[in-house]
Amino acid sequence: MIRVVTLDSFDEKQTAKLCQALYTAFGVGSEHSGQKEVPPGMSEPLDAEQLIKDIKGVRAYEDDKVLFITSRKLKERELPGGKAPTTGYALYNQNRAIITTHGHKDFEAAFKPIARNALQQIGHLWGLHHCLDPRCAMYPPWTPSFNTGEPSFCSFCREKSEQKLRLAKS
Ligand SMILES: [Zn+2]
Ligand SMILES: [Zn+2]
Repeated sequence: MIRVVTLDSFDEKQTAKLCQALYTAFGVGSEHSGQKEVPPGMSEPLDAEQLIKDIKGVRAYEDDKVLFITSRKLKERELPGGKAPTTGYALYNQNRAIITTHGHKDFEAAFKPIARNALQQIGHLWGLHHCLDPRCAMYPPWTPSFNTGEPSFCSFCREKSEQKLRLAKS
């Protein structure tokens, strides 16, 4: 089960549409599992890594993947070449990830890049790495074409995620 936990208020229709896209991509159930508060003392821009480690009281079973979604800005990452905006973050091969819709004015209009970002972060939770196929949601998010693509995987990544899911279930 993929549990989408909102950290800000989102239209229920939009979270339902996102869950539907996750279900289509991964073939596992996905639902909006309520809203949580950002831990007290954390201010914007939010430290994605710290936030998803610190957030308490999220009901989930061991095999569940939890995707937090916020409209607030995430702290930029320090890369050797300078600062890079953070659109999402995942604890690789674990069970918690976050995405932000910050920078998109309208959820509906920006649905594809938001869903693509969600697919990528959850893909990382199932151990997927970035992919060189520009049509794939695992394509590196800092590429200019990332935001124009569909929220779906290439056949290699799709198969790899299905394999991981089968292992998790057995
Ligand atoms: Zn990534
Ligand atoms: Zn791929």
